[in-house]
Amino acid sequence: AGPERNADLRALIRTIPDFPKPGIAFRDITTLLLSPAGVATCIERMAAAVDGPVDLVAGIEARGFLFAAALAVPLRAGVLLIRKDGKLPGATIAEDYALEYGQDRIAIHADALVPGARVLLVDDLIATGGTARAALRLLRKAGGVVTQAQFVVDLPDLGGADRLRDDGITVHALVD
Ligand code: AMP
Repeated sequence: AGPERNADLRALIRTIPDFPKPGIAFRDITTLLLSPAGVATCIERMAAAVDGPVDLVAGIEARGFLFAAALAVPLRAGVLLIRKDGKLPGATIAEDYALEYGQDRIAIHADALVPGARVLLVDDLIATGGTARAALRLLRKAGGVVTQAQFVVDLPDLGGADRLRDDGITVHALVD
């Protein structure tokens, strides 16, 4: 039989107020991950929304890894890790992006992509889109063909999904 695949994903996501700092409503997907039906529903819906063949699913550290890896199985795709700078052992290419205060840097292995590889970008959540857009620049710089991105949660008021669409990406999220 397997787990049910019609879980109420919104109900499984917990909101923690004032984390990691005052004024932020943190959308916590760890509660969704604890639910077998939640995980199955999530991955099945993400897989159903994929448009065309995908060679690699690129997940953004750290929660994006979970969804990217699970999604790669039904897609028969590989998994590409987009990591915080300084974590990957081989030669890397990196991309900086602005945070509210300061900046951050993400990286991939320089040889992770065969030019022309079709890459699906995945993370748990898109807010301002700063992280996902830096990931997109990085993947494109490496020669990846990126036309679609998926998220469990979109915070549409923060505009990230629209910015990503302006970059030519089809954006799909399970919960607004
Ligand atoms: P952004 O770059 O603004 O789109 O932020 C997206 C990244 O920050 C993702 O990797 C999310 O995991 C994390 N993030 C941002 N805002 C939240 C939030 N309200 N709740 C949970 N995670 C968040």
